[in-house]
Amino acid sequence: MNYSRNIAGLQPSATLQLTARAAELTRQGRSIIALSAGQPDFPSPPAAREAAVRAMEQGRTGYTPTAGIPELREAVASATSRRRGIEFKPAEVVVSCGAKHSLANLLMAVINPGDRVLIPLPYWVSYPEMVRLAGGQPVYPGSGRSLITAADVEEAAASGVSGVILNSPGNPSGCVYTPAEARELADALAATRMWVISDDIYEDLVFTGSAAPHILDFRPELRERAVIVSGVSKTFAMTGWRIGWAVAPVDWAKLAIRVQEHTTSNPCSISQWASLAVVSGAAEGERRSMLAAFASRRDLICSLLSGIPGMSFPRPEGAFYVFAGYPPSIGLSSAGLCGLLLDEEGLAVIPGSAFGVENRLRLSFAASDGDIRGGVERLSSFLAKRGIR
Ligand code: PMP
Ligand code: GLU
Repeated sequence: MNYSRNIAGLQPSATLQLTARAAELTRQGRSIIALSAGQPDFPSPPAAREAAVRAMEQGRTGYTPTAGIPELREAVASATSRRRGIEFKPAEVVVSCGAKHSLANLLMAVINPGDRVLIPLPYWVSYPEMVRLAGGQPVYPGSGRSLITAADVEEAAASGVSGVILNSPGNPSGCVYTPAEARELADALAATRMWVISDDIYEDLVFTGSAAPHILDFRPELRERAVIVSGVSKTFAMTGWRIGWAVAPVDWAKLAIRVQEHTTSNPCSISQWASLAVVSGAAEGERRSMLAAFASRRDLICSLLSGIPGMSFPRPEGAFYVFAGYPPSIGLSSAGLCGLLLDEEGLAVIPGSAFGVENRLRLSFAASDGDIRGGVERLSSFLAKRGIR
């Protein structure tokens, strides 16, 4: 059989694979601590669950318009307008099966064969593969910083790069642009013709006490070629409901809808009604308390990791990951180290190589305090056995 070379060349998603492997080992009865999954460990808010039950009881179980029910498109448009201080219309909103699906639709709608796309390094595992799937070619910033800089944009634009994916707060780095960095980046982008996808899925998980600065705050005119991507997965602990969205220029939105129309049709009707409840503000209490829990877990994991000699990391200002460098003297690649940590210590974490950077581990702190303590202990005990203490 001759399968598609394009698809056969795609890398598996390390985040999903490792998370599944940890779950399988747990099912087999092993004691596994999983700091691998990028998903909140809280239940979805009652308002979402109740709205879902109501939707089922009221028979809202048929196809919906491809781009989502008008009520949800309206709610997303007004929430995004309030957040950014720019008016967005429901026609600019496309609701999809998770932010991942939104990103895939948008990339298919904008990339022509061979187009190059600037991607932050370390990157979220799926960006390069999605770009390749759409026929494009990923390029990584020369600065090597986890946030794309104005200089990266200038360099990319000069060499004909078509577009850029931004992600602040970032997965896996946890980094957030400062206002000055966001302003410089916005100015640099405004001077190019590059399209921009701003993946804002972690926009509500910021520990700095203020909102994450955004390029549209400084250069609202970029909206003509910039898309905002977000969703309910991380903010409202609703990863399994599969609802995300894009707020895009109308022409780009129309093409993304066309892709969706011929591939998945509408996202789950019941999940859309559940998402409408939380986007409309019915779970603000839960949202705030989850944020407070993540902030205190961030403090806990940072203080525990600082106690291990040779571990170094930027203190995450958002999202729920620590991207930590380990002592090279251990002589293991990140994939090798993660394999041994899982087999010998029962600790699941993600290798830096999945995010394009070696000698790093990603530890998720979307886990209980007990798992965070136990997980860091297992890491520390593994390193101690190899002379790092
Ligand atoms: N973007 C980033 C940076 C992510 O970490 C994730 C993880 N799930 C997504 C997008 C996709 O989120 P969703 O569950 O809404 O598809
Ligand atoms: N985004 C999460 C992570 O990075 C969930 C898994 C995935 O979709 O990649 O772990």
